Amino acid sequence: MKNELIERLTGVFHETFGGAPVHLVRAPGRVNLLGEHVDYNDGFVLPAAIDRATYIAFSPTGTDLSTLVAVDFNQRASFSPQTIPSKTQADGSPLPEWAHYPAGVMWSLNENQLETRGMNAVFASNVPRGSGLSSSASVEMAFMLAWQTLSDWMLPSMQRALLGQKAENQYVGVNCGIMDQFASACGVENKLLLLDCRSLDWKTIPLPEDVAIVIADTTIRRKLTSGEYNKRRAACEEAVRLLKQDLPNIRSLRDVSVEEFNRFADKLPEEVSKRARHVVEEIERSNQAEALLEAGNIQHFGELMNQCHASLRDFYEVSSPELNVMASVAQSLDGCYGARLTGAGFGGCTVNLVAHEQAETFSELLAKGYQSETGYQPEIYITRASSGAELLT
Ligand code: ADP
Ligand code: MG
Repeated sequence: MKNELIERLTGVFHETFGGAPVHLVRAPGRVNLLGEHVDYNDGFVLPAAIDRATYIAFSPTGTDLSTLVAVDFNQRASFSPQTIPSKTQADGSPLPEWAHYPAGVMWSLNENQLETRGMNAVFASNVPRGSGLSSSASVEMAFMLAWQTLSDWMLPSMQRALLGQKAENQYVGVNCGIMDQFASACGVENKLLLLDCRSLDWKTIPLPEDVAIVIADTTIRRKLTSGEYNKRRAACEEAVRLLKQDLPNIRSLRDVSVEEFNRFADKLPEEVSKRARHVVEEIERSNQAEALLEAGNIQHFGELMNQCHASLRDFYEVSSPELNVMASVAQSLDGCYGARLTGAGFGGCTVNLVAHEQAETFSELLAKGYQSETGYQPEIYITRASSGAELLT
């Protein structure tokens, strides 16, 4: 599938620009195993880059104009450092929505005094869009690396992630945390990544070879997500404000232990208390994860994933009927260590840890069970932790 995609890109490059592309980069999507809705509370997250990615075939133009072809949309856009502040193309027309991601990367680099030389580029992705696997971060990290390849500067992967987050926050206008760009930029084959969202320190944690990561897409897309997302963030801020009366030294929910939270929870309005409970307990779960995984205790780690799903459903209230069916069918199947919704919620995917030798059967039974309960046909991918953004040629 990956090679087909690359052949297609090379073909479209030849038709559009003539000749063969000089460079090829890839940057993966990601899936988060534990630590959901805690990145903006200074917590710990445990994502992995997946083996689905955005690929760009490109060549330098020798000018400052970049012309991009989005093969998946069959559209083209041309822009330069002069046109992007007004979100327009070289001919004065507005940038199409998809071009805000690469143009945002150019903008963010330029804002940081990093030059972006012009390129002719053709790109496509096999990360499903809008399903919580971070197709947007994979596009951003791929273009970040493409412009780095053509320039004199070289940034550490975390720095590229931060500039990608800045592009998405300030240019595209999506208020995301650092996890998506981090995982796409810093992924390591067969490893989970443990990121402290406060200090940005991170390390890798091995995932046993006999365990597969299975992603199950409900195919129901998120609705009204950004509004609900902002409400959850506001509830967390409100909880910190109120808890400060008794715990004056806290800066975020990261600083509140489960025991302290239980002591003061009834001083919070009910809804704020439920939201904060998810965050405080989820940070505690992700604190336990490292030792469990280092010890190879996948059974117990999987139980934490199941608890995470219940907490997102009952306390954070970001699940959906389809996600609940997908998680509970999975949890009842042989070989499944843990299953939960992943990403922002409301729709999109679940992530499942499954014994490798049972992953095929698991996927078939999960698809059947989900379809018979909901009437929808799911997409199921058996994936593995892959390397982060890389130059392939
Ligand atoms: P996700 O959870 O997949 O990141 P987002 O809504 O954050 O969902 O980002 C999806 C957007 O990213 C798309 O609407 C599009 O603008 C851009 N994008 C993702 N993949 C591609 C692609 N293959 N080609 C062009 N643009 C893409
Ligand atoms: Mg996104």
